[in-house]
Amino acid sequence: MSTVKSLICRECQSEYEPQATHVCDLCFGPLEVKYDHGDLARTVSRESIEAGPNSLWRYRDLLPLNDGAEPVTLGEGMTPLVHAQRLGAELGLSNLYLKNETMNPTNSFKDRVVSVAVSWARANGFDTMACASTGNLANSVAAYSARAGMRCFVFIPADLEASKVLTTSVFAPNVVAVEGNYDQVNRLCSELADSYPWAFANINIRPFYAEGSKTLTYETAEQLGWKLPDEIIIPIASGCQFVKHNKALQELIELDLVDPGPYPKLTGAQALNCSPVATAFKSGTSVQPVKPNTIAKSLAIGNPSDGKYVINIANGTGGVVETATEEEIVESIELLAATEGIFAETAGGVTVGVLRKLARAGRWKGDETVVAYITGHGFKTIEVIPDLDRYQRTIKPSVRSFEETFPDAS
Ligand SMILES: *Cc1c(COP(=O)(O)O)cnc(C)c1O
Ligand SMILES: [Zn+2]
Repeated sequence: MSTVKSLICRECQSEYEPQATHVCDLCFGPLEVKYDHGDLARTVSRESIEAGPNSLWRYRDLLPLNDGAEPVTLGEGMTPLVHAQRLGAELGLSNLYLKNETMNPTNSFKDRVVSVAVSWARANGFDTMACASTGNLANSVAAYSARAGMRCFVFIPADLEASKVLTTSVFAPNVVAVEGNYDQVNRLCSELADSYPWAFANINIRPFYAEGSKTLTYETAEQLGWKLPDEIIIPIASGCQFVKHNKALQELIELDLVDPGPYPKLTGAQALNCSPVATAFKSGTSVQPVKPNTIAKSLAIGNPSDGKYVINIANGTGGVVETATEEEIVESIELLAATEGIFAETAGGVTVGVLRKLARAGRWKGDETVVAYITGHGFKTIEVIPDLDRYQRTIKPSVRSFEETFPDAS
């Protein structure tokens, strides 16, 4: 049973009835879903979760969906937590784990937030889904709208990767390519959300949408045997999921679902060429908007709404916010693929790039449990890997030709 009590302002703690709104009328702070944890503690246990479906909906009691409503699901979540022994050996980490979010239905972490958002929207009488997207969100909203039988408008920057547009368009949404960057797309959608009676996943229904992120961290703890890791590396675009992973950890502890232990350090990863949060973290100043110019387009938010909360959480938990250069992003995609057999998109390159940088700088002794969230699939950003044909030789269909071309193979 979902035990949503209200929407509460993260800044001034004013409370509102649960509804499609995301900012506080009084102070413009962001709104959060607040639960009745007294009820939750009685109803949720490791056993009740493990008995649930093999998807993120096993955590339904901790998600904001109306009682009795059918979730809109494609089997999202419960992605593999991979013990990365070869990448770990490379980096001097014997307990390195990768949460492989490329395995979600539309191949990114966004399916978690979107499954929750579309479920909530349908249960609350909306017939049209919309979103402002850097790519993966559009992909996911289009798929889940199709699944729910809802009308769909996705707003994207006109210069998005071709593969992301294609994998979105196949679900037959209205694709609105906006001649501008993501921050302009987002501003346009905020204006439209005021007058169109639509559920914009990451705007008016953002408090409900954002809750879906928590399941990534719940699952990580469950898959570690209900233990918390020492540190989690999380890519940052708006910072929305980073903040929710912290909320998830607090809930896991409060509800007694995990073994007692030190609170995990939460560390953020940004592309150097779009690093407003890392810059503010390092200089100790407030987050200043930047103009993104990076191949990590899924993280290219120059004015991140949750930036200051990310910095507070990183500081409060002993984490850091670090960056990867464009070159390091590509190298890291290739390193991850060659050592672990996982093909990540540029956001994964940012995460592994930061992991590698911190490992080389001596951040860890070597036996800490470090988990990196690999949030999107490499098929979405194929164009960033140069010269993939460097691995290919063309031969005649004969043994002789093979042996001439590969004289040292046997
Ligand atoms: C959206 C996205 C993120 C980051 O999300 P925020 O919650 O906006 O910080 C990370 N990785 C991928 C692949 C994404 O699509
Ligand atoms: Zn407020």
